[in-house]
Amino acid sequence: ELDLELVALTKRYGETVAVDGIQHLFRGGTYACLLGPSGCGKSSTLRMIAGHEEVSDGAIVLAGQDISRLPPARRGTAMMFQNYALFPHLSVADNVAFSLKMKGVDRETRRKRAMELLELVHMTAYAERLPAQLSGGQQQRVALARALITNPQVLLLDEPLSALDPFLRVRMRSELKKLQRELGITFVHVTHGQDEALALADEIVVMNNAVIEQAGPAREVFNTP
Ligand code: ADP
Ligand code: ADP
Repeated sequence: ELDLELVALTKRYGETVAVDGIQHLFRGGTYACLLGPSGCGKSSTLRMIAGHEEVSDGAIVLAGQDISRLPPARRGTAMMFQNYALFPHLSVADNVAFSLKMKGVDRETRRKRAMELLELVHMTAYAERLPAQLSGGQQQRVALARALITNPQVLLLDEPLSALDPFLRVRMRSELKKLQRELGITFVHVTHGQDEALALADEIVVMNNAVIEQAGPAREVFNTP
């Protein structure tokens, strides 16, 4: 099973307890939204899963293995950031292939795989462009391709739509959902937008004050028919 389980997961920054022993099981292949007010611990949770932030206490178990002490590249997770964080001096294709280069994959294989991922996000025509030549939505598709090139079992998205205008946001929403269905992997998507969570999520996990307050299908969490 490709379930992702958080076991008494805790993050402290000095005196601040940002995440207080949370417990949750994300079923493999679900689209989960992590919802809650600013400062409640969503980003810290996501960054611990990704390995960008050290775990203070507890464990992160993916497919039966505790990944909480593994380096980010060996966890089976990938993260997509709010600001996309593309390398400005690298072409779109080289941005997408970057992590394969770091792994020592040969140039031809990298290129082939990068083009496959660009096809998945409908961006093959832009392979040789620089990020600055792309619109926000296009940069976002590239960032998605870049995150997915490692074949992660879990894709972590930190407010991926917040930098887009409202029109594009709604469009990218449906693209994200479609992509998640096609890939069949787990998405954990941090947002503070209820409408966004309602539109996307199979499951909504609500955090408040460093703990999980509620979790379940969107309909139950929002109490809508
Ligand atoms: P959210 O993503 O829900 O806005 P965060 O996980 O970013 O919440 O933050 C949770 C709490 O931890 C907040 O009180 C925040 O100020 C604090 N925090 C987050 N990152 C750091 C950090 N690097 N150092 C100190 N405190 C932090
Ligand atoms: P978000 O709103 O996405 O949670 P923030 O703007 O709160 O992000 O935080 C951005 C960065 O600043 C993160 O790397 C986070 O770790 C850091 N940070 C957040 N709160 C604090 C804090 N109280 N002290 C130090 N660093 C912080």
